[in-house]
Amino acid sequence: MSLPLITDLARDELAQWCQAQGEHAYRADQIRKWIFGKRIDNFDAMTDLSAALRKKLAESFALFSSRVAARQTARDGTEKLLLELADKETVECVLMREEDRRTICISTQVGCGMGCVFCASGLLGLSRNLSAGEIVEQILRLDRLLPPLERITNIVVMGMGEPLANLPNLLKALASLDEKGGMGLSARRITISTVGLPEKIRELARQGKAYNLAVSLHAPNDRLRNELVPVNERIGIGTILEAADDFFEQTGRRVTYEYVVLAGRNDGPEEARELAALLSSRNAHLNLIPMNAVSELPFHDPGADRLRVFVDALERGGVTTTVRKRKGIDIDAACGQLRLRNK
Ligand code: SF4
Repeated sequence: MSLPLITDLARDELAQWCQAQGEHAYRADQIRKWIFGKRIDNFDAMTDLSAALRKKLAESFALFSSRVAARQTARDGTEKLLLELADKETVECVLMREEDRRTICISTQVGCGMGCVFCASGLLGLSRNLSAGEIVEQILRLDRLLPPLERITNIVVMGMGEPLANLPNLLKALASLDEKGGMGLSARRITISTVGLPEKIRELARQGKAYNLAVSLHAPNDRLRNELVPVNERIGIGTILEAADDFFEQTGRRVTYEYVVLAGRNDGPEEARELAALLSSRNAHLNLIPMNAVSELPFHDPGADRLRVFVDALERGGVTTTVRKRKGIDIDAACGQLRLRNK
């Protein structure tokens, strides 16, 4: 039977474990510094701990539970890992290099139950939630791809899965990064993306942390959104926008709306007008993501000219819009694509 993953323990849980072994609670921070700050890959490398404590750690915990099943590097330096977990399930995570930023994108579930019709991650449905340790482990694996003096600067929780459907484990993992002995990555540098689960958006706001919220809209009306994001039938755009407005009011953090641009499906002049009507009066930012073609799916990149017309119409309508830079286009960059190929 495999050992429990040490990163499944919050800082205070690890301190309690240390005390139960007759050690001082502060040993937990020493252990965490080795894991998060010094990129070690076995307990024996924790040289400021006694040999007896290192032995107990090795007998009680696994430091990692995954293995790197595939690694792809794009010409722009973007790297994607496919991690095989202890139960042979796989998840993807990505490191993106951009000037002084080192941004990673992590997954929160194996597969996804939201069923967005343009998404490779949703094609196989949801298998299970990731544990807090499995979420942390993606961060540690990606951090270890960087040279010694570079550190992860930003995290986007936009990989496989619906992050808010696994909120307790996600919050535990993210809290661990900012606590003593962690990576010093504060909530402001972390963006959590959601398809729009209103109650969970409010629960996130109640945490009192400065996480950034990104709501994946993908359509300006319920008729089209029900087609593209089937879970919308149970929720509706109006309810999601209300919850996002409450999030902004409570946290003061401006909400970003994400919109995958699907050629000929959601990028016409009427959609631009409707989208502007929804967003122009809100303190919101719109992030357009041109579709990354996946051979299994019938959706396409709009191309530069069509996209320009869409952006111009939105900006004329009073919406602050950016087009997300495409990273790693020469690898399986679309979320879930690498996993799909390795099935
Ligand atoms: S786009 Fe996100 S929420 Fe939708 S199916 Fe894919 S992973 Fe799930």
